[in-house]
Amino acid sequence: MAVWNLGSINEDRFYRVPRLPGPGETLTATRFSVGLGGKGANQSVAVAKAGSTARHIGRIGPEGAWARDSLKALGVDVGFVIQGEVPTGHANVHVDNAGENMIVIYPGANRAFELPQIETALAKARPGDFLLLQNETNLTREAAQKAKEKGLFVVYSAAPFEAGPARAMLPFVDILALNEIEAGQLSADVGVAVDELPVARLLVTRGAAGAVLHDHAAGKVHTVAAFPVDPLDTTGAGDCFVGYVVAGLDQGLSPVDALRLGAAAAALQVTRPGTSEAIPDRAEVTAFLD
Ligand code: ATP
Repeated sequence: MAVWNLGSINEDRFYRVPRLPGPGETLTATRFSVGLGGKGANQSVAVAKAGSTARHIGRIGPEGAWARDSLKALGVDVGFVIQGEVPTGHANVHVDNAGENMIVIYPGANRAFELPQIETALAKARPGDFLLLQNETNLTREAAQKAKEKGLFVVYSAAPFEAGPARAMLPFVDILALNEIEAGQLSADVGVAVDELPVARLLVTRGAAGAVLHDHAAGKVHTVAAFPVDPLDTTGAGDCFVGYVVAGLDQGLSPVDALRLGAAAAALQVTRPGTSEAIPDRAEVTAFLD
């Protein structure tokens, strides 16, 4: 089957600064680099590297062809990435010498989706395919609703977290993926305990403490421990984890085995610098698990 992903594509601009600037202050960066980012792009790369078919539904601006080319080079089908007039999204990431960061995201093209693009893409999807969604694009609820009508399996990472949109998605979601903090925020907002959130399956990631899948549909709870590693940079661990778990399910693994695959991939990812470029390929993950 295929894994479709209505997802953000960002230019990540990393600035190393001696310390984070205060209001009105100008600082000189000591290092600079640019990379492909966006939660959506990172998840598509993870799905492709895990060996599943990743079809990205995305938007870039006039100067964004390089980002589409990068995604393609990483094995993602970019046939449904449209280039328009709104500039490509970007994230300015300032990291100080202590590793503390300050990030400003300009969503740009990622929030300029129009329904026909999504409908055209989903018209090619087949029942049993997956649809991944995150909170960095517009029209997530509409896409989830259409996907459910077509018999797709909808996986939604509610990050960056906003309670209103996350709540509105619950009826259309087969797996809701959140980290522990986001799960706490949503449960406070809905007014029930985390494991009572009204959704078919809830996947809570807990950093170095692993992850829990509350499978309400099957009445089961699955847990996976994180693999012990020395983390270098945990940015994007969640996207690597979710992409690998979904690819595992797409390839017919049991929930427990898919979680283990995701945990192994994310463990490798956190030992490397960067986000999408730090995502390991399937052979590396298999070797790690052996
Ligand atoms: P991010 O927002 O940085 O993408 P997240 O908060 O969404 O991350 P986490 O819960 O931090 O996601 O991590 C996702 C998964 O990655 C965890 O469930 C775990 O399997 C793995 N992981 C994260 N941090 C570590 C670590 N320090 N050591 C080993 N595995 C880790």
